[in-house]
Amino acid sequence: MAITPLMPVYPRCGVRPVRGEGCYLIGEQGERYLDFASGIAVNLLGHGHPKLVGAIAEQAATLMHVSNLYGSPQGEHFAQRLVDATFADTVFFTNSGAEAVECAIKTARRYHYADGHPERVKLITFKNAFHGRTLGTISATDQPKMRDGFEPLLPGFEVLPFGDLAAVEAAIDATTAGFLIEPIQGEGGLTPATPEFLQGLRRLADEHGLLVVLDEVQCGYARTGTFFAHEQYGIVPDIMAVAKGIGAGFPLGACLATEKAAKGMTIGTHGSTYGGNPLAMAVGEAVLDVVLEPGFLENVRTMGARLRQALEQMIPNHDHLFQEVRGMGLMLGLKLKTDSRAFVAHLRDNHGLLTVSAGDNVVRVLPPLIIEQSHIDEFIGKLSDAARSYAPEEQA
Ligand SMILES: *Cc1c(COP(=O)(O)O)cnc(C)c1O
Repeated sequence: MAITPLMPVYPRCGVRPVRGEGCYLIGEQGERYLDFASGIAVNLLGHGHPKLVGAIAEQAATLMHVSNLYGSPQGEHFAQRLVDATFADTVFFTNSGAEAVECAIKTARRYHYADGHPERVKLITFKNAFHGRTLGTISATDQPKMRDGFEPLLPGFEVLPFGDLAAVEAAIDATTAGFLIEPIQGEGGLTPATPEFLQGLRRLADEHGLLVVLDEVQCGYARTGTFFAHEQYGIVPDIMAVAKGIGAGFPLGACLATEKAAKGMTIGTHGSTYGGNPLAMAVGEAVLDVVLEPGFLENVRTMGARLRQALEQMIPNHDHLFQEVRGMGLMLGLKLKTDSRAFVAHLRDNHGLLTVSAGDNVVRVLPPLIIEQSHIDEFIGKLSDAARSYAPEEQA
């Protein structure tokens, strides 16, 4: 047997973490890494945060799981807090980002069905998008590496260039249900939508009776310095998928919607065995407690601005390697003039620095949201050393 017991679908690197401490990961041999990847924008409180660890221990000992056949005081309380803090009137809890997007897609279709337009099934989505790995969410993208061999996929998606409002307007027809978009594309290359584009989608949706469905799985939950990224664009969605940061490392996601958009989601239309169980809700509450503490979002904005400025100052010193800095808050991308995967490997293997590569040769810089100035200084110091010692030809 040549296949590994762990199904070999990931290109795993040599880092094998066994412990985490704040903004650091520790490997099997005791090696320390500065973690500016955060499990891909997940561990927003770093590793081993006492409030999160304490909440999990306490809830696990009290009540871990019950069926959604029963009333959920824990879910009602956490959902109310999310409703109070966002555009939404109602929340469905999931275990992952892809499931949150699936629920968003179902909610959008069901809205039009309940609204007397069962023909409105098609969501317009965008090139380089990433919405997850379920059959439904890969159907919403056009990337061969995710789709090949899995067809036939789910019909009802049309993929258009990210940012081309005229193309979107031209594509709207009697079967269009709405738009599904990441305000800042993560996997695709850390590419923020322009305000004109998102505001234009909102306007088109209002004019044509369509829904704006945001995928804030990566850019949401304080990552950009506001609770959700769309707040900085001056628009509100009808439906929004959330995950990653919401559980800060515990598998938790959510689909948020307005009362109007959720009008088709009646009893029996959707479900999940684990979704929103008491342990997940205790995690969600503990993370939200920290995120809503006075000064938390301000720290994200301050640290984000300093990190960005420090990165921008480095560019002229290494202009053979670095092209530009993109992103918002602590969701930053350093665009390289060369292969970002090789440079991410160099940072990791030779400088103890964890980052994540994205499409378009971008190095994603996604630190825990609790970083302090000392972490930025350490990061920038190591990144400069790495850039100075980097010879891409030798890596190849
Ligand atoms: C990570 C991600 C997903 C998928 O989340 P999973 O928890 O891996 O299912 C969906 N959309 C975006 C924008 C993401 O970054």
